Amino acid sequence: MNSIVTFPNRIPVQEFEERRFKVFTDRQLDKIEAIQNLPEETLFEMKVVASVLPFRVNEYVINELINWDKVPNDPIYQLVFPQKGMLKDEHYERMAQLHREGADKKDIQAAAKEIRDALNPHPAGQMEMNMPELDGEVLDGVQHKYRETVLFFPSQGQTCHSYCTFCFRWAQFVGDKDLKMASTDAEKLHGYLQKHTEVSDLLVTGGDPMVMKTKNLVQYLEPLLQPEFDHIQTIRIGTKALTFWPYRFVTDKDADELIELFAKLVDAGKHVAIMAHYNHWQEITTDIAEEAIRRIRA
Ligand code: SF4
Repeated sequence: MNSIVTFPNRIPVQEFEERRFKVFTDRQLDKIEAIQNLPEETLFEMKVVASVLPFRVNEYVINELINWDKVPNDPIYQLVFPQKGMLKDEHYERMAQLHREGADKKDIQAAAKEIRDALNPHPAGQMEMNMPELDGEVLDGVQHKYRETVLFFPSQGQTCHSYCTFCFRWAQFVGDKDLKMASTDAEKLHGYLQKHTEVSDLLVTGGDPMVMKTKNLVQYLEPLLQPEFDHIQTIRIGTKALTFWPYRFVTDKDADELIELFAKLVDAGKHVAIMAHYNHWQEITTDIAEEAIRRIRA
């Protein structure tokens, strides 16, 4: 799918081609061409840190957002590529030693788990506190921390198009079920919201809910148009897709349906707030990022 757009004062007409989403994780560090000329020591540090904390970067971020002439000081490089300072010295040394010795995968994974467990993956007791109940049953993937706001963590949105080095939600990404908050249960979410008329805001969060297919988002959000959810006035969607994958809103196969869903909710009187997470102006310097913002605001 292509999208044609007119920027009145800048680019007269622009056509955006669909782009294939290609992602690299810790297992493909050696496949990222752009980093192969970095010092050996930097590459080793990346490998060590990425064996403890989740690492994921996509080709658009590598090729369009990072100014490689400025690495290591480039802000987007700093935002996504693992660095030694992300681990405590003793944790770093322990993992570095295993890599130096050529330890096997099982030992590396076991050490990584122990280090992660020591990092307080869910500060403020998030796995025990703020967990609401419906009919005596704890709702997974839902938090009710503030009177008017319910947070929802849909399981299909518990990853991101790239990972930030500062992320405090990394526990969602490491594949450890005990550390993960997530729900696929739209019915339970709706049942809870229906009963709690003091709730005016639903915050859909992750990970990044914009990783989800539009059809999943429809399943969670469209029922809120029924009269029994009139008290839900604001639907907030926390996302960094405008930075990491703006194609989600422009040329991905279900981008049009996504924009239509937003329009439908807004036309029905809901306030839809895209809580775009930005860290640096460089994240919105591409034409596709500008077009994604334009489509959301249209
Ligand atoms: S986008 Fe948000 S949830 Fe995803 S890695 Fe970055 S900080 Fe974490």
